[in-house]
Amino acid sequence: MKIKHFLSSLLVISLLWSCADTKKEPVETVEKEEFNYIVEQFADLKILRYQIPGFDELTLKEKKLVYYLSQAGLAGRDIMWDQNYRHNLEIRNALENVYTSFKGDKTTSDWKEFEVYLKRVWFSNGIHHHYSNDKLKASFSSDYLKNLMAETNTKLEEKAFDVIFNDADNKKVNKKKGVDNVASSAINFYDPTLTDADVETFYKTAYKGPKDRPIEAGLNSKLVRENGKLVEKVWKSGGMYGSAIDEVIKWLEKAKGVAENEKQANALGLLIDYYKTGSLDTWDDYCIAWATSTDGNIDWINGFIEVYNDPKGYRGSYETIVEIKDFDMSRKMAVLSENVQWFEDNAPLMDSHKKDNVVGVSYKTVNVASEAGDSSPSTPIGVNLPNNNWIRQQHGSKSVSLGNIIGAYNSAGGTERLKEFAHDAEEIELEEKYGKPADKLHTALHEVIGHASGQLNPGIGQPKETLKNYSSTIEEGRADLVGLYYLMDPKLQELGLVDDWKKIGKAAYDGYIRNGLMTQLIRINLGDDIEEDHMVNRQWVSAWAFEKGKADNVIEKMIHDGKTYYNINDYVKLRELFGQLLRETQRIKSEGDFNAAQDLVEGYGVKVDQAIHAEVLQRNEQFKSAPYSGFVNPVLVPETNEAGEITDIKVIQPESFKAQMLEYAKKYNFLAREI
Ligand SMILES: [Zn+2]
Repeated sequence: MKIKHFLSSLLVISLLWSCADTKKEPVETVEKEEFNYIVEQFADLKILRYQIPGFDELTLKEKKLVYYLSQAGLAGRDIMWDQNYRHNLEIRNALENVYTSFKGDKTTSDWKEFEVYLKRVWFSNGIHHHYSNDKLKASFSSDYLKNLMAETNTKLEEKAFDVIFNDADNKKVNKKKGVDNVASSAINFYDPTLTDADVETFYKTAYKGPKDRPIEAGLNSKLVRENGKLVEKVWKSGGMYGSAIDEVIKWLEKAKGVAENEKQANALGLLIDYYKTGSLDTWDDYCIAWATSTDGNIDWINGFIEVYNDPKGYRGSYETIVEIKDFDMSRKMAVLSENVQWFEDNAPLMDSHKKDNVVGVSYKTVNVASEAGDSSPSTPIGVNLPNNNWIRQQHGSKSVSLGNIIGAYNSAGGTERLKEFAHDAEEIELEEKYGKPADKLHTALHEVIGHASGQLNPGIGQPKETLKNYSSTIEEGRADLVGLYYLMDPKLQELGLVDDWKKIGKAAYDGYIRNGLMTQLIRINLGDDIEEDHMVNRQWVSAWAFEKGKADNVIEKMIHDGKTYYNINDYVKLRELFGQLLRETQRIKSEGDFNAAQDLVEGYGVKVDQAIHAEVLQRNEQFKSAPYSGFVNPVLVPETNEAGEITDIKVIQPESFKAQMLEYAKKYNFLAREI
């Protein structure tokens, strides 16, 4: 088994490398193959490391740009901590002080539990689980922590101390139906006293930007009540988080000085203006400049971006990613962009929901050089920005797949779990041979074609307004369905994207159904509903197709030796079902049909079959691999001459996860004065 696993991971890496970087010398390829991707495992988490392919081939000026952008990103790291929860930074400071100065017995189980707790807090950028949003449970007593703090002379305010152990603020983001989402979410986007009604009232009359060009209202502020009035405390230089934002600006100025071209420099200039003024109109100008600046080899994501952490979908979490273009892979993916109109024209949508001109979709595979905030240590594997709909429609968007991150995931995982949950030998073989390219292609189709496809009916509001709390999962499911529909299409082969479209399609469908109906359940506790938007959509897509195909036995539920499997009998019919559901999902979005969205999501996506869930958890127990992974960043080390000028930048790997976390806390502690 081990040898096979070893061989198959070698195969994956060499495949990746052969399309990712043709310039590599053979000697270096051998080095990469021996790279150890796993740093450590604890609790439900696995820490991986990644390399930066192509970095050595950059010019010194390009390397500097990467370095400055990565410093800009890390400078804002603590913003994410404070956004996640108002007591996070003081708790982290206290825990780190204990951790670095305690001189007592470190062999006890209490100490080990304390260490794991701290690592989990580091991983989640706070005391709530990065994925489930539940408050992390401390497996040591409050007395033990009190003793540690006394021995290390550590101070922590009583309220912050208590919250580690009590039931207060148990959920970071609560999007559940039937509760006050704002009041029951611990996220630091709203005063603890605010309610759903407060937020809704405020944004009824708040400034929303020019007509037809709505700003992302509320994106860069905290909503608070001051003297009985609701006001936005804006995150900007001189405002909330100003001391960290000033550091971000400092590094962005340097980056601007070594920009690759005028468009890039212009975009960076607008980003700096935005951080200085907090103006969301300037943010839109920046997003347009950034989305249309596509010529460089280096790119970045920097700002308050994704709104998943806001139960109301207004406020953005601080996030940065620094990227280097993956030239060869990008050429392949450009094929999808060039043919995006064909995909729109041939989609199973109602004609009125199709776009006549799909604008400016770009897709790239990039390699990550540095991540911070919302995207670190837990990272996305693909990103599609900007988020503002009218900018996407009029100016296009950028879609990137994070190639080296996906590669690291693939190389660190095993195949034992696949063998447990796949129905038969053919399914296993298809997954082993075609699973990874199929996954990659699904991500590409989801981002390039999926999110670009379809249009709203005239006069219908943005999905956030019409579909409300269901807008994200409907959008993600819709994009998944576009991908699923086309994964079983000979067009992919005609375009030179796959060698064998049928096998790729089968592997993709097997993998999606297996995950959507079974294996993703390993990520949640028995008895819990599915809440995370992507997980919810994977289940409603899979469960809907299973139910609607029952009469024709399209997906068959089989039980062998007491184990459940879902076996696809008819891939062609399954594709038709995906097409039907895509048409319906697009209709829901285009018409803003809230009730239909609710029926679909609540009916198929949220509730879990308890018997299946218990069985999946039990069958999964034999695999030690943690369900969640995240990454340490490679360290970029500038080399300077006597005049202090940078002469080169080296990439080294951090000593350990804890070493990097402690280093970051010391070096980028820019909110210390504000908390
Ligand atoms: Zn998506």
